[in-house]
Amino acid sequence: MMSYPENPILVVVDVTPSGEAASSTAGLIGAASTIGTPVALIVGGTPEAAGQAAAAGAPVVITAEGDARSLTVPIVDALHLVYERVQPDAVLLSNSIAGRDVAGRFAVRAKLALLVDAVGVSRDDEGIIAHHSVYGGAYLTDSASTFGAPVITVRQGAVDARAAAVEAPVFEGLTSDIPVPTAAATAGAIEAVEQASSRPDLRGATTVVSGGRGLASKEKFVLVEELADALGAAVGASRAAVDAGYIPQSHQVGQTGVSVSPQLYVALGISGAIQHRAGMQTSKTIVAINKDADAPIFDVADFGIVGDLFTVVPQIIAALEAR
Ligand code: FAD
Repeated sequence: MMSYPENPILVVVDVTPSGEAASSTAGLIGAASTIGTPVALIVGGTPEAAGQAAAAGAPVVITAEGDARSLTVPIVDALHLVYERVQPDAVLLSNSIAGRDVAGRFAVRAKLALLVDAVGVSRDDEGIIAHHSVYGGAYLTDSASTFGAPVITVRQGAVDARAAAVEAPVFEGLTSDIPVPTAAATAGAIEAVEQASSRPDLRGATTVVSGGRGLASKEKFVLVEELADALGAAVGASRAAVDAGYIPQSHQVGQTGVSVSPQLYVALGISGAIQHRAGMQTSKTIVAINKDADAPIFDVADFGIVGDLFTVVPQIIAALEAR
């Protein structure tokens, strides 16, 4: 059996439907590199995915064969096997739907503490600490495990740290000596429905353009999509926009929607209620366009434009397209 680096941090890489390493990989491995040595685990990825994990800074990449759309159980099985071999100081996963599913099941099975939705990680003399942004970003709190290696889900886009690419990574194939158990017979995939969209996924997008009730109708909400396309951004929305039927709930940002931490978040016609801010306040740069100069969104915005979005946004799109 191979020996693993000191202070290994096991990173479970999310795999896209086409078998690539998900965009969250660089941030996860970057976070791991700040508290130890990343050891990446990829279940059901292509050979390119293993290379992508090494390029993101994992000196050891363990791969397990399987369907990229694997149900959770085989991934948890593979993770449990690898966890016992590597004996890591912590296990990091993305706070994506898939990552949370695997993290929860694995933590229960391995009897480890689960620390969810971290926006950063660090290490002190006592061990590994997860940092969380709570109450709409009003407070930062820390959590740590008093026993065993913590299982930590990391919010996509929240960690800026990046590890240097590894020139001579070690690739280990799990299937060569330990096969990945097959899915439990109690569960099966019936149908996978992919939404055809050329836009980036909301979770993990580097730029997000969100629209609120100020868009006034489903027809006019298209303006949000046009600005998103001009910026290569994902589309988000406030709950009021979702409730009014302008856009499906999967686009909702906030306390009862998705939490995002993009480099750039553009809020159009959104007042900035605490429940909305809870999902976007950790964005690196926030731009707000609102006709009400007293709207609370301006309290968290880095750049604000007080004006009618139906006048301002077409001008921004025209300027972007003229570049
Ligand atoms: P509004 O508050 O109505 O604001 C519309 C804004 O558009 C106003 O500021 C107005 O000045 C501006 N505007 C109007 N016309 C124009 C124009 N032509 N040009 C420029 N600006 C214009 N909300 C979420 O977003 N996400 C959540 O996850 C969420 N979870 C919730 C959970 C709970 C338990 C509760 C109680 C509420 C939750 N909410 C959530 C709802 C939240 O409290 C707000 O009601 C909601 O965010 C408001 O959406 P909005 O900003 O689009 O609408």
